[in-house]
Amino acid sequence: MTMMPQETHEIFEEKNDMLTEIITLRKTLHRHPELSGQEMDTARRILEFIATHHDTEMITDIGGNGLAAVYHFSDDGPVVVIRCELDALPIAEINQFEHRSVNAGVSHKCGHDGHMAVLAGLAIRLKEKNFKKGKVVLLFQPAEENGEGAHAVLESGVLKNLKPDYFFALHNLPGEETNAVIVVDHFFSASVQSVCISLQGKQCHASEPENGVNPAIAMAKMIDALADLNITDETQDGFALLTPVYMTMGEKAYGISAGSGELHYTLRTWNDEKMEELKTKLSHIVTTVSNEHALQHDISWFDYFPASVNDPKCNELIRKAAAGNGFTVKERPLPFKFGEDFGWYSAQYPSAMFGLGAGLNSPALHHHDYDFPDEITGTGIGMFCGIIDQLLGEPELLQKTE
Ligand SMILES: [Zn+2]
Ligand SMILES: [Zn+2]
Repeated sequence: MTMMPQETHEIFEEKNDMLTEIITLRKTLHRHPELSGQEMDTARRILEFIATHHDTEMITDIGGNGLAAVYHFSDDGPVVVIRCELDALPIAEINQFEHRSVNAGVSHKCGHDGHMAVLAGLAIRLKEKNFKKGKVVLLFQPAEENGEGAHAVLESGVLKNLKPDYFFALHNLPGEETNAVIVVDHFFSASVQSVCISLQGKQCHASEPENGVNPAIAMAKMIDALADLNITDETQDGFALLTPVYMTMGEKAYGISAGSGELHYTLRTWNDEKMEELKTKLSHIVTTVSNEHALQHDISWFDYFPASVNDPKCNELIRKAAAGNGFTVKERPLPFKFGEDFGWYSAQYPSAMFGLGAGLNSPALHHHDYDFPDEITGTGIGMFCGIIDQLLGEPELLQKTE
């Protein structure tokens, strides 16, 4: 009769130890952030953390510094990939807490340190499980912030060997209630594309602008015409957001009439088809105005994030995992306007991302005072365990030998 409470108590204690350990890991990762494509130490720390817990197959150098922990269970069955990100951002942290970044100008302002901690916790929990079938892959992806990592992981060919059946990921969301699970049908995040428009005219003496080709008026016309392409009503399928992020023209030399200029934008739409349409419209405006003003032009596209698509079956697994854990679910009617390179996976495999509320008063993502809230880590672990349990069957706890 006294066994149950005692067992429950032991499990509770064990979980608390586990949480303490992964929060320590999270703070270590926060203290030592690395930019996209440079996540060598971060990957090494994750490798060491998992190796101290158990001996499972580790695949390293995936698409750069990426790594994966692979858990094989005895029979063939579903292959479930859970993905997090390794990289931090070029933002100087202003927080003064003990675990603040020691790398000047670099910090974890998207909470990827917390996402890694969730997967590290999952690694510890998977050790306890003895599913009869299937495989779980914990994928620590490099270079999410510049949109290159997921594509590079796919190009590496590692996934072709693993043959994933399902892909899942979460993103913490400031502005949402702490520990709420946010589910979005259809698209999770926008299609995002960055662009640089370079204009080349002819520089000349500022007293004789008629002898040169100054791009200023053309740039003003382009800015005006591009602003007219905005459709900011998010409920419309044709939603289009063109944000000017940077521009430059000439130099601070008052005897010279400028001969070149650049306009930089990010473009957002709800899907990739609308993005192609928007790119065509932008190109048309730039070509027409450049020709009218005798300017050479060049349009370069980069940092592309395909829209991330949520598979209905995967979303059902997310809802059931939340219900099974007693977590609050919030259904969101519209996708998020940020870009997520998870869209590369969702284009190839049944996939879904969900949001995890980081608190109504949390600083926003990519802000210099943001810090991942550790109190949501357990919810992230519970969610992924709930999803994996549904796909790989009822887990059996390994016989403890002590
Ligand atoms: Zn980010
Ligand atoms: Zn992020």
